[in-house]
Amino acid sequence: MEVFKLKNILAIHTGGTISMSQNENGEVVPNNENPIASQQVILKGKINLITDEMFNLPSPHVTPEVMFEIKKRIQKAEAEEKIDGVVITHGTDTLEETAYFLDLTLQNTIPVVLTGAMRSSNEVGSDGLYNFQSAIRVAADDQSYGKGVLVVMNDEIHTARYVTKTHTTNVATFRTPTFGPIGLLEKEQVIFFQSLINSEVCDVDHVEKGVYLLKAYAGMDGMQIDALNQESTKGLVIEGLGAGNLPPKTLPAVQRLLDNNIPIVMVSRCYNGIAQGIYDYEGGGIQLQKMGVTLCKGLNGQKARIKLLIGISAGKSGEDLKHFVSDAIS
Ligand code: ASP
Repeated sequence: MEVFKLKNILAIHTGGTISMSQNENGEVVPNNENPIASQQVILKGKINLITDEMFNLPSPHVTPEVMFEIKKRIQKAEAEEKIDGVVITHGTDTLEETAYFLDLTLQNTIPVVLTGAMRSSNEVGSDGLYNFQSAIRVAADDQSYGKGVLVVMNDEIHTARYVTKTHTTNVATFRTPTFGPIGLLEKEQVIFFQSLINSEVCDVDHVEKGVYLLKAYAGMDGMQIDALNQESTKGLVIEGLGAGNLPPKTLPAVQRLLDNNIPIVMVSRCYNGIAQGIYDYEGGGIQLQKMGVTLCKGLNGQKARIKLLIGISAGKSGEDLKHFVSDAIS
């Protein structure tokens, strides 16, 4: 049995399908009033739920500036309000990016849990209220301290660092490739069975612009990379091939960006595994590393972009930035 003392949980609503409804034509549309925010059925007598309807955005409208505002709101809750845990409802499309942004920038004192829904509030089999309740249970659980920012969907607990959306519509969309979830929700209990070995925090007082993400493909040339060879470009993440390789025709453009001190970070476009310098052929990971490309261990492209953005926004450069961005696992 879960044992609760009355906990103050702050629910920050930001929008997404969890706050939307289906209209008479079957189209899923935003609401002026969030149907989740008015639900008080949850864990009566165990949770004092404080609601902040901070945003009402479909998550493709969420930007790093919005993530920064959420970070500041949580820091205020920790510093000035007696909050024991935070739940954030968010559209699922970019949920993993907001989760990782918060994971990287918040000192991990109180539990912070993100959740969303794949079916809007009035659809048959809507998962929003259930996921919201699950997220509150995890945020209120003493075991959730020190686990980093968490994502709770469909009875699973995932780390912000490695979780990703894997299916366009399935309720079991959130998965952690390579490592798996770190916990589960049973009917009565929250169970953790693994945790991250290390976490790293790098707070920022603003967010930079000009950090980009490209995906490599067979026969790719340097055109897109050269298009980013601009003064306003602060950094580039490339989802490379396999263990972290690029087609040879991209290399002159890669070199031109590096010569202009634009950091380039390589992850794999593979769904599982870790980018590493294995191949010593033209465009192979070993050669890319020798050129100055940073291989990032274990993050997907969108997370590596958030990490590069945070590192640059924190004023890191050169070897310091390389170490920060490459060192996701150790
Ligand atoms: N497109 C929606 C959003 O991210 C999907 C969702 O919420 O699940 O806002």
